[in-house]
Amino acid sequence: MERTGKRRLRSAMTAALLATVSAACSASNGASAPPATGPATTGAPLIAAEEARAGAPGIGDPDFPRDGNGGYDVAHYDLRLAYTPKTRHLDGTAIIRARAVQRLSRFNLDLAGLTVRRVSVNGAAAGVERSGDELTVIPATPLERDKDFTVEIAYDGVPKPVDNPGTLGTYGFVSTKDGAFVACQPNGAKTWFPGNDHPLDKATFDIRITVPEGVTAIANGEQPEPPKTSGGKTTFTWRERNPMATYLATMTLGRFHVKTGKTPAGIPSYSATDPAYAHTLNGLHTATGKITDYWAKVFGPYPFGSTGGIVDDFDAGYALENQTKPIYGGFEPDEAIIAHELAHQWFGNSVSIKRWRDLWLNEGFATYAEWLWSEHKGEATAETIFQNHYQVPQSPMWDYPPGVARKDDLFNQSVYTRGGMTLHALRRQIGDQRFFTLIREWTTTHKYGHATTDEFIAMAERVSGQQLDGLFDAWLFQKGRPKLS
Ligand SMILES: [Zn+2]
Repeated sequence: MERTGKRRLRSAMTAALLATVSAACSASNGASAPPATGPATTGAPLIAAEEARAGAPGIGDPDFPRDGNGGYDVAHYDLRLAYTPKTRHLDGTAIIRARAVQRLSRFNLDLAGLTVRRVSVNGAAAGVERSGDELTVIPATPLERDKDFTVEIAYDGVPKPVDNPGTLGTYGFVSTKDGAFVACQPNGAKTWFPGNDHPLDKATFDIRITVPEGVTAIANGEQPEPPKTSGGKTTFTWRERNPMATYLATMTLGRFHVKTGKTPAGIPSYSATDPAYAHTLNGLHTATGKITDYWAKVFGPYPFGSTGGIVDDFDAGYALENQTKPIYGGFEPDEAIIAHELAHQWFGNSVSIKRWRDLWLNEGFATYAEWLWSEHKGEATAETIFQNHYQVPQSPMWDYPPGVARKDDLFNQSVYTRGGMTLHALRRQIGDQRFFTLIREWTTTHKYGHATTDEFIAMAERVSGQQLDGLFDAWLFQKGRPKLS
């Protein structure tokens, strides 16, 4: 994993330190070890043990400096959760397996609200400090660099969503009359579990949820075992075995009609609708199947173990591409939006961004997928849709270059539409065959990882054999309507 900002600097320092250590080790090979406390007699200075330092309170995103944390990489989240819709009370234990990337005296997790009851690290009680949405864990002894550790946090309370007065809306854990609607982009995972809440640190997840009998609990991935009911409570077990960003995790709860099966090409599929949207269940399930299969032909093999979708009755005003199960908040999804959210399984979920300002790599691709779906259906072609947008000289998009999404206006229409237009301008320039070869190479090369705009431009130039800096600069980074060649 490569990191941005401060963390890249830190790993450069790490490499220098490691080089010194290994040089010192080989210098002492074959010689008797110098006394531990005495002065070095061979001329090589003694290397002091790495000082244990606090992990950074942010992962290094220039626009969201407190999101995520430094000093460690999470490998796996094991979340054991119980929720009572009537009281809105969440009881949670998070068992997080991570690896220290520096010698750590303490480290942070992101957690908003809720009460922390107990924290242990590698089985030993640990200290806790809280400040805003930062939870600081102080292990009894420092954690060694490159060593795995396990932190267990018991917590509970009434989760509250993030209410953003700007353009982000309400997101995170939103309680509903029959359960909860949980959609967390960009940083709402902290409203229901402690973690490293930034897409730069992806991990696998086990999510076990206990609810009153009759309530359905839906999370990402698949169910390794059927739900178990006893004493009026049912426990649902979900497992996402591929790396997932925290903002794509969900624990959506309520009364649901559920349909399971496989897509025509054989990918397991799980669809669920709130009773208010029961009439949409079959349509959602069928469209999800055929669109997932079509994208697998266009974008490359489906990256995850299952596909699906959830329609809940919370009027969110958006859909979110939760991994393996996009969620549609309070409306009947049409094929265009299903095509968009499923395209994100490749663009955003499997191939993830390293910082939020690169969001066009998610939204431009998913928007362009809507146009490709229209073209595939024999409706408006991508060229027609592109021209319809291009022929509006006064569009506010021309003042907002989409290549740097603004933190106070992350989901601006330009990031979507002008982002999609950037891809179409590229397709016009390099031709269909090279364009679709590039798209498949992109999803293959960066599968389950991260990628940047610079890497996309470099790959486009290599696959096409053309110099494309001018095209990308005009479409992504400059104000004004780009000229068409
Ligand atoms: Zn999207």
